[in-house]
Amino acid sequence: MALDQSTLDKLRSVVGSENLLTEKEDLIPYAFDGTAAMKEAPGCVVFAATTGQISDMLKLANDIETPVVTRGSGTGLSGGSVPVADCIVLCTVKMEQILEAEAAEKAGLFYPPDPGSMKISTIGGNVAENSGGLRGLKYGVTRNYVMGMEVVLPDGEVMWLGNKCVKDVAGFSLKDVMIGSEGALGVITKVLLKLIPKPAAKKTMVSTFNAMDAAAQTVSDIIAAQIIPCTLEFLDRTTIHCVEDFAKVGLPLDCEALLLMETDGHAAAVEEEAAKMEELAKANGAMEVRVARDEAEAAQLATARRSAFSALARLAPTTILEDATVPRSELAHMIRFVDKVAKKHKLKIGTFGHMGDGNLHPTFLTDERNADEIHRVHEAFKEIFDEAIRLGGTITGEHGIGLAKKEFLPKFAGEAQMRVMRELRTALDPKGILNPGKMFD
Ligand SMILES: Cc1cc2nc3c(=O)[nH]c(=O)nc-3n(C[C@H](O)[C@H](O)[C@H](O)COP(=O)(O)OP(=O)(O)OC[C@H]3O[C@@H](n4cnc5c(N)ncnc54)[C@H](O)[C@@H]3O)c2cc1C
Repeated sequence: MALDQSTLDKLRSVVGSENLLTEKEDLIPYAFDGTAAMKEAPGCVVFAATTGQISDMLKLANDIETPVVTRGSGTGLSGGSVPVADCIVLCTVKMEQILEAEAAEKAGLFYPPDPGSMKISTIGGNVAENSGGLRGLKYGVTRNYVMGMEVVLPDGEVMWLGNKCVKDVAGFSLKDVMIGSEGALGVITKVLLKLIPKPAAKKTMVSTFNAMDAAAQTVSDIIAAQIIPCTLEFLDRTTIHCVEDFAKVGLPLDCEALLLMETDGHAAAVEEEAAKMEELAKANGAMEVRVARDEAEAAQLATARRSAFSALARLAPTTILEDATVPRSELAHMIRFVDKVAKKHKLKIGTFGHMGDGNLHPTFLTDERNADEIHRVHEAFKEIFDEAIRLGGTITGEHGIGLAKKEFLPKFAGEAQMRVMRELRTALDPKGILNPGKMFD
């Protein structure tokens, strides 16, 4: 049922009429996120600017028992911010104030998590998804940099979690429960982040191979040599061609696999590690190792890798990108398995991802209007996730469960974990106001 006039009036009195969208055509962009083939019309969209407004809104939503779906920039890839029919979409993009960080850049500090969407996604969305990125192997993911946060609980109560202390073991770490909670346990309104010294030097290189196994072996050999590069990313043949066509950075095209490798730290260590990485790539039969001459070329190569999803998306009307993760030693097997599954189901696929993290993004190039093909994509993903679980991996390394993967979560998490997650959710949100129908509902 659509939201009634009295609810809309109350919402207007909380955020002001300039921060409330109700017209059908204005709501269209908020009916979906970055996930293919999922959409639902909200009842309205509210742009909140303060914690107090969010608290008032959630109290109201509880009174009238209306679902609220929190939305950052809507770049999510598991349907987390796709609305529930006629819900209130609570959009946080106007909460962009940096409260205490003016000195960071000047002091040579940096914030390592760098999701491919970092220029557009919000920090609230990054925390709610515990997003990863290209630097995960050496620097970890969003969770490793969140020291504290302000959260508005589903009933409107405001709570602060964490602090600036390096050590703190007082009570359960509720902060860690909120990280990755996908908008189902609270609305994150402030985040206290850890910054670290910016590495003095960095070296970026690209190597190409005529077999994916050789790229995977290079990654294993680099880590066995006690080098932890900040980036070890791979693209398969299809993705290399799409990225080059899109970004035009002169990537070599006559190869089956490409590795983007970066090492950072003290200048002397970087030189030594880069030389060793080049040597190991060549020992594994690298066809070419190209070392970026300067920062501009390094940035261009990293940007090319970041554009993989957008580049693949140009090939077909619908791009369904997934996020299976396996122990690193199983990655070469997993990439071969994904290819086999794609062939079996007669599907077009490009695969890329974070080789150092064992995190791959098989991306099916399809058309959501073709029901038979979408069914085959679904069957293929079932096989891929089953295999990831069998190998000791996970059904998502960074994009979350949302709507896209909720059917696969019980098999991965098991009964006890599902029950505890549901009980926790019910304890905090007995009326199921925040993001219902996602993850395990
Ligand atoms: C081109 C592209 C590249 C990407 N690359 C990466 C990558 O490298 N690594 C990676 O991890 N992800 C990546 N993503 C996925 C996505 O960008 C991340 O999940 C990101 O963190 C989502 O942020 P957002 O602000 O867009 O959140 P949204 O998509 O709006 O929301 C995501 C989820 O978080 C919840 N949420 C949002 N804000 C809040 C809040 N303030 N409080 C509570 N819950 C909230 C929502 O309800 C939803 O469940 C990529 C996406 C795209 C389109």
